[in-house]
Amino acid sequence: MNEKLELPPAQMRELGYRVVDRIVDHLAGLNGKAVGAKGDPAALRPRLSEPPPRGGVPAEEIFSRLERDVLPYIMNICHPRFFAFVPGPSNFASVMADALASGFNVFNGSWLGGSGPAALELAVIDWFREWCGFPEQAGGLFVSGGSMANLTALAAARHARLNDRTAGAVLYYSDQTHSSIDRALRVIGFLPEQIRRLPAGGGFRLPLEALARAVAEDRRAGLRPFCVIANAGTTNTGAIDPLAETAAFCRAEDLWMHVDGAYGAAAMISGRGKKLLAGIELADSLSFDPHKWLFQPVECGCVLLREADLLKAAYRIMPEYLADVHRNVAELNPCDYGIQLTRGFRALKVWMSMQFFGLESFAAAVERGFALAERAEAKLRAMPCWEVITPAQMGIVTFARRGADHRFYARLHEAMLRDGYALATSTVLNGKTVLRLCTINPRTSDEDIERTLDWLDALAGLVSP
Ligand SMILES: *Cc1c(COP(=O)(O)O)cnc(C)c1O
Repeated sequence: MNEKLELPPAQMRELGYRVVDRIVDHLAGLNGKAVGAKGDPAALRPRLSEPPPRGGVPAEEIFSRLERDVLPYIMNICHPRFFAFVPGPSNFASVMADALASGFNVFNGSWLGGSGPAALELAVIDWFREWCGFPEQAGGLFVSGGSMANLTALAAARHARLNDRTAGAVLYYSDQTHSSIDRALRVIGFLPEQIRRLPAGGGFRLPLEALARAVAEDRRAGLRPFCVIANAGTTNTGAIDPLAETAAFCRAEDLWMHVDGAYGAAAMISGRGKKLLAGIELADSLSFDPHKWLFQPVECGCVLLREADLLKAAYRIMPEYLADVHRNVAELNPCDYGIQLTRGFRALKVWMSMQFFGLESFAAAVERGFALAERAEAKLRAMPCWEVITPAQMGIVTFARRGADHRFYARLHEAMLRDGYALATSTVLNGKTVLRLCTINPRTSDEDIERTLDWLDALAGLVSP
């Protein structure tokens, strides 16, 4: 029994060092290991489903249990040859920042709860604001990820533009838009008939003419066009919607412009990203996902609003038990700007990793993501059995096996998982299944790209009909 749930300092250190050693071994050895493994539910779940022990279990046993039944069964999204979905090439400085934030158990919901952390969060948000070219009065907050960022922004837009009355209001976006937008709209009460999911135009971009037609038609029908959602890098192909033109259209039509930059907005720290994403600074709201292309461990998302006060207008509620928190207006309370009251100190990892490595290193790490995808594209163009479907764009290239149908990709996926050397996943473009590499891990070597494509080619030969 240990009713104080307390460990003596020596034992705390021992446990801590053990955890750090385990993490460092994992990260240092990653390159030589399989990308990951997927457990079979029928085998894995029974091994772990049991009641909690009545008394404590020795650390040795706990760790060997984790080593056996839990930790082997993950996809290492930090692995240099993980090219599936969107990789999460985290960094160790941020990992330690998460440990600190947890160790101090920072309550980052109010100025009173953590004024140092609140001030630091504001400072980091201000970096993001500057990178994205937003004006002084812009602001935002850290959230769990892009999905929450989209939800937080769209609910604020609904409040600002519709006073929360959604009847007849209509939203517009391309069919390349991330599913988290559909989910956010479902959560905040928009019905399918209020959503115009426009078939993407050339380059898988938002089709402006079709957008203008749809808005005009809806106005004629007595509906209330309300918001356009544009992508700063789609998850499928890295396509960037015409941001500046969309913004001009939104201004002219008095529509809210939300930009989903969960995949690509972090590229604003690089020279290339800044050029490609010109116009992002015109958005009314922006989602940004540091746990993707800003190399942070999950969870770390961010939402920015052109007018930070609109977040506050949408979210601030003052209950009597928080009166002590709200007396001084200079003391900013993060809980007034979003959904969470109790919230962790996510800004710390961004801040600490930026201090450790410096912005230049981060910018170079982003640039490398662009270059790696280009390298993959060049190699694919020289491989007779493959066809490039969309060129390298924002660190993503898509390609297809000549003559293969969708069943080929399912078999290839299984073969990749069995082998474990690398992982790519498929997506569907214009009704056709294609493979996709997302190359935003700065630790991926040129050789990793070359070898992965040769390996894929060999596997494809084996699984072909
Ligand atoms: C990943 C992604 C999201 C969702 O972000 P999460 O952090 O996974 O919640 C939204 N939009 C785009 C474009 C994304 O790539």
